[in-house]
Amino acid sequence: MTTEFHGRPTWADIDLDALQHNVRALRACIPPATRFGAVVKANAYGHGMEGIARAALEAGADWLMVNTVDEGVRLRRAGFTCPVLTLGYAPHWEAEKIVRCGLTPTVNTRQLALALAREARTASKTVNVHVKLDTGLGRFGQLPEEVQPFVQMLVTIPHLNFEGLWTHFASADEADKSYSHQQLAIYRHVLANLEAHGIVVGIRHTANSAAIIDLPESHFDLVRAGVSLYGLYTSPQVSRRVPLKPVMSLKSRIARLRTLPAGSTISYNRTYITGKETRVALVPIGYADGLVRALSNRGCLLVGGRRVPIIGRVCMDQCVVNVDGVPDASQDDEVVVIGAQKGEEITADELAGLLGTINYEVTCNVSARVPRVFRRGGQIIEIA
Ligand SMILES: *Cc1c(COP(=O)(O)O)cnc(C)c1O
Repeated sequence: MTTEFHGRPTWADIDLDALQHNVRALRACIPPATRFGAVVKANAYGHGMEGIARAALEAGADWLMVNTVDEGVRLRRAGFTCPVLTLGYAPHWEAEKIVRCGLTPTVNTRQLALALAREARTASKTVNVHVKLDTGLGRFGQLPEEVQPFVQMLVTIPHLNFEGLWTHFASADEADKSYSHQQLAIYRHVLANLEAHGIVVGIRHTANSAAIIDLPESHFDLVRAGVSLYGLYTSPQVSRRVPLKPVMSLKSRIARLRTLPAGSTISYNRTYITGKETRVALVPIGYADGLVRALSNRGCLLVGGRRVPIIGRVCMDQCVVNVDGVPDASQDDEVVVIGAQKGEEITADELAGLLGTINYEVTCNVSARVPRVFRRGGQIIEIA
């Protein structure tokens, strides 16, 4: 066991204690009988899918949820045996993988339903399927009037088990919940209509992170926690009543320190020129790692607990910072891109604000080239 990471000097620390704290804190605000789904799509929002899934299940998650069939396959290969729901579109030719891996797909086409039934019959299995209802996100899923005939068709197909009906909120993260209530009313209406036709929906689910925190009437039988697992709030309007801890810190090290004379130009296209003698540090993180190029001459990193400005263009593999403000900076010192250092902090939210995006995109941007260093009690337990 060790606390120092001696791999590539650019890495993401993943704090599994914080993750498990978040799972427990979110679980505490849903009814005990409601199941907890950990949304680990997109490599767990950039945090590392397998390590996150393992820690989330250990802390009390019941389901894993992904977008694509391939993400589900990856979870099965890693040995996870819990229910895995795929939330995205699966074309009929993915039916074989779905059945072979025992995934629970969201089925929105007759074509996929028939292909699943065929594969399931061949394999002597039954496939649990969920249906998505579009209550107003305007994206994917059956429209309210389409659901009942569609589900009626599904329940007649052998080897398929219609298990769940779900919907997704458009603006649960806004202070004004009226549109969410409208979506819930449509959802309830459809449930009642199915019931009137003798169809029981075993697992009803609607809540994303914002709804878990701010819309208790949306919890039903299962919730789908994404960004909140990772210690981030969906928006500034989501209440802070559930205390979340950020899970990811993105770090690097000083690769080279130099003092350049006045008039020196930094990085491609010479967009920064030193006005005086300047101490600069080269940091081996670039846009291929997820430090987006739009931060050129804009963002800050932390060195020695101080904010140091990025100067010149962010390159594919490196960037340069002005460390005049940190006289004791030295070679191989830790550099923080996202996270805390000696009382100073740069959050994913701050970066998102600077870039005109949301915290989701900031962590998803951390690329496959960056090692994920999973920690418990500060100790490294796994590297992915
Ligand atoms: C991604 C996703 C979620 C998780 O949303 P968060 O806002 O990150 O909690 C929930 N449901 C569906 C359908 C999703 O695609």
